[in-house]
Parts: sequence; C-alpha cells; structure tokens
Amino acid sequence: MPHYTPLIATIVAGLVFAFIFGSIAQRLRTSPIVGYLLAGVVAGPYTPGFVADQAIANELAELGVILLMFGVGLHFSLKDLLSVRAIAIPGAVVQIGTATLMGMAMAYFLGWTWTAGFVFGLALSVASTVVLLRTLQERRLVETERGRIAVGWLIVEDLAMVLALVLLPAMASVMMAKGSVSNPAIWQPIAITLGKVAAFVLVMLVVGQRVIPWALHWVAHTGSRELFRLSVLAIAIGIAYAASTWFGASFALGAFFAGMVMSESPLSQRAAEETLPLRDAFAVLFFVSVGMLFNPAIVVNHPWLVVGTIFIIVFGKSVAAFLIVRAFKYPTSTALVISASLAQIGEFSFILAGLGVTLKLMPQTGLDLILAGAIISIMANPFVFQAIDWIKPRIEKRAVKPENEMASPAAPHEEATVIPEPTRLTNHAVVVGYGRVGSHIGERLHEMSIPFLVIEDRAEVVKQLRARGVEVFFGNAASPKLIAAANLAAARTLFVAIPESFEAGQIVEQARKANPALEIVARAHSDAEQANLNKLGASHTIMGEREIAQGMFDYAFKNGVTPGPVTTATARPDVS
Ligand code: AMP
Repeated sequence: MPHYTPLIATIVAGLVFAFIFGSIAQRLRTSPIVGYLLAGVVAGPYTPGFVADQAIANELAELGVILLMFGVGLHFSLKDLLSVRAIAIPGAVVQIGTATLMGMAMAYFLGWTWTAGFVFGLALSVASTVVLLRTLQERRLVETERGRIAVGWLIVEDLAMVLALVLLPAMASVMMAKGSVSNPAIWQPIAITLGKVAAFVLVMLVVGQRVIPWALHWVAHTGSRELFRLSVLAIAIGIAYAASTWFGASFALGAFFAGMVMSESPLSQRAAEETLPLRDAFAVLFFVSVGMLFNPAIVVNHPWLVVGTIFIIVFGKSVAAFLIVRAFKYPTSTALVISASLAQIGEFSFILAGLGVTLKLMPQTGLDLILAGAIISIMANPFVFQAIDWIKPRIEKRAVKPENEMASPAAPHEEATVIPEPTRLTNHAVVVGYGRVGSHIGERLHEMSIPFLVIEDRAEVVKQLRARGVEVFFGNAASPKLIAAANLAAARTLFVAIPESFEAGQIVEQARKANPALEIVARAHSDAEQANLNKLGASHTIMGEREIAQGMFDYAFKNGVTPGPVTTATARPDVS
C-alpha cells in the first residue's frame, strides 16, 4: 500500500540524522548542537538526497520551544520574574535598539531602504529561546540570578517580537499608502495586541493560578501515572496554543506562564520530570529545522555580508548587553554570561525576516543573511561560552578590588562565586549535593564536629548553608576547578550524595586522581551504577534502594516476630 507520510518521514530523518551527526560531534569533542545543525543541512533542500518537509519540521520545532519554556516556567515564580524586571526590561529594550541600529547601518551601506534595514536589524536583535534555555540548563544556570535575568530578558524580547509581527503588516500598508507614522493603522494593532497579551496574563494569574494546581492535585489522586503525564502535557501545550490563537501572544510566552502557574503546586517537580524526554527530542528537532533552512550558496556569493551579519550578532549584541548589565552594577561574570547567552539568533528572526520578505519590506538577501547568521551564530555559541570562561578570570583578576568591595554583604546583586578561593580546611570531609541524602550526612558531621565543606548547585540551598556558616561552593561538582578548590589531596572523606550517576562518576574519577588514598563514599540507584562507581574509584558505594529495602524489612521484624499468615492491619503504625 503506497503511503505518503511526510510527518513520520520528517521525524524519522530528523532524529536519525541528528543522532548520527550528534554522536560524531560528541566524539570530536564539540557541542552536539553542531551535529544537529549539520543533520538539518543534510536533510534540507540545498543538499542532494532526502529532503524533509520544512513546514512540518518548523512545527515540530515549535513544540520544542513550548516544552522548553514550560520547563523554565516551572522553576519560576511571579516574584522571580518581577525581581529581575528592573534590569530585564531596559536591558532588552536597549539591546534591541542597538542591534536594530547596527542592522540599519549595514543596510544603509548596502543601499537598502530604511524599512529593509529596520526589519533586518530587528531580526538580528532577538536571541533564540531554544539555544538560550538549553545553554542555561546545561550550565545549571536557570535557578541562579544571572539565569533569571537572562530568562526575564528573553521574555521581554519575546513580547517585543510579538509586537513587531503585528507592526510589520501595518507598516507595509502605511508604506504602500505613503502614510505617516502617526497613522492609527500602526498604533492600533499594537495597542490591541498589548491589550490581548495583558488579558492573557491576567486570566492566567487569576483563573489559572487557582484551577491548574487544583487540576494537577486532582489527577495525582486518581493514582494513574499515565493520566498525570497526560494532564501536564495537555496543560502545557493547550495553554500555549490558546495563548497564541486567542490572545495573540507567542507559544513560548503561553507555555512559560503555564509553567509558572503550575510551579505553585507541590507537584511541579514531578510535572517537570514528566516532560523531560519529549522536551529533549523536540529541542533536537529545532536545530535540525534550522539547519534545513541554510543555503550554503550565500556564504560563497556574499562572504563579506555574512561576516558583517555574524559580527553584529556575536560581537555587537554581546558588547551592548555587557555594557548594559555592567551599567546596572552587576558583576562582570553576570554580564559576561548574559551577553554570551544572547549572542545568537533563531526562530523569531526567521519568522520576522520571512514576513518582511513576503511584505516586500526587505530583499530576499536579507533573509538569506539572517539564516546564515543564525546557523553560524548557534554553532559558535558553545565557543563563545568557552571564550568567556577564558576571559572571565582575566577580567576579574584585573577588577578584583573594586568588585570585592562591591560584593560586600549588603551588595544587592551579590552572587555565589563560581570559582571560589581554595578551602583552607584539611583533614576535612567534602559533601557533594546537599539534598535529601547529603543534608543528613552534613548533620551527622556537624554533630561529630568533623570539619566539612559542601558543593551544591542549587542557589537557595547554598544561601541557606552560608547563612548557617557552613563553607559551601556553588556550582556543578563535576567541574575540575571546584574539585581542585576543595583540596581533596588533604581531605579525609568525600561523600558523593547526588542522584545522577553520570556526574557522580565524573566526580569520583577526578577525586581518585587527586588523592589515591581518599575515602570516597558514593550513592547509586542500581547495580550497574554501583559497579561503575566502584570501577571509577569509589571506596564504597551505597545502593539507595537496597538500603531502603533493608530498612523496611528491619522495621517490620524489629521485634523478632516470626512470619505468620498475612493479616490485614487497620491501624497505621506510628512512624514518627
Ligand atoms: P537529593 O536527591 O534530594 O539528595 O538532592 C541532591 C542534591 O544534589 C540537590 O540539592 C542537587 O541540587 C545537588 N546536585 C545534583 N547534582 C549536582 C552536581 N553535579 N553538583 C553539585 N550539586 C549537585
């Protein structure tokens, strides 16, 4: 039976090519994103062989945007969002303005009209949601202050682009009619869009905030995991869709608010876990869809224009963002991270530039330059981060005095130091991860007056521990710099109390190299993890589930009761 299945073909090609090229990129020690983008080029219309359906690929990519923004919203409260408005709003507005002016200047030299330059510059000014959020997640920055600023900034940009999309058709009609800018044809759609977005936010905060946590709670009590998973997805995708079709907002904005409202529920952590696998798969398809748009001919035909475009995206925008963040007296490290996160363009730029070409506001070359600029700037983004990792200590060293003064306890934007001063402790214990497991270890060490140091990557936990006077390093413990600063060579014990075995393995391996005699006690959740951690150098690995089973069994037979026939107990034993 002959079949026409473009949706299946696009998903299959997208995932298979992405897997192959992503694995090759990983082996070559570059970011897998480079592989996903190349997979898109291979599946795209400009290279021979199979050609996937671009329209479908774009829609699948939108699902990636929705799930990513929803996931970020789950870690955000309204308070978090409002706490960064003082920098995010002016920051995004100034950066959009600067990038647009730079785009217009380039357009001027090319002899384009000023409207063409305006569309071109605007498209260069907005960062990709997917790239930014993935980077923040990979670097565990979402819940830090700099991560919150970047997300707040992104939301302002998103809103500006929603407005730009309604502005462009109005601008085109005014241009045709040779009207003036004060024409109500321009301001009316903007006012209506702003009104609709405000109505959406209001509905979410007033109705959604009550109904969504309640619905989630209700579904959780049905006891069906499948229904719970379904409810989370239905809420995320449903609200994003409603936001864009009924309220004229973007999918991303809708999904973010859905997540933010759900974060009020104690079940939000579980909700986040449920969407992870889908989120990752669709985010990969986003990169494939970007790769598919890329026409390599532009690089050959207009190399210097491509260089100019990249310069604006990677350098011009970053410098603007850096200066704005510094002007608000945030530390250099925060300014660097924010500028690097925004040094790329993506999905909104294509939509905006595409619309500009359709409305005859901008020539086709503009769109081709934007597409080339997007793929190259996304590929370059991991290297931009490597570059700031290199630059950061150098700038900070130069600015050490003033910045230390600024980061006195009263400083408003003080952040946990990323690369801390090495500890002075010796013969100490190091606890990696201060959650359900690590915190119990910490209590015991404290009772026994054993000096210890914690490495933890959740900002709020770090803050609490610091308030109690515990020495703590903030960040991913797998980072060699943190491990070096923990002075493992002089430590007595390392407790690796985190649940992710992959990262635990990296930590154990490095710790063993740093001190062959160190006692390393690690946490595992399966036999395979236990074997792997032991192989990598753990002295002893505790398998959590086995200990729980042991505890349950010991509890049941603590009085040495011999097992008899099963009876149904009605009273619940007191477990407190
Ligand atoms: P729990 O599973 O409740 O014991 O929590 C584990 C704790 O370890 C959480 O507070 C995490 O934030 C923290 N954690 C997980 N991975 C890392 C890591 N690679 N570096 C530092 N802290 C981590």
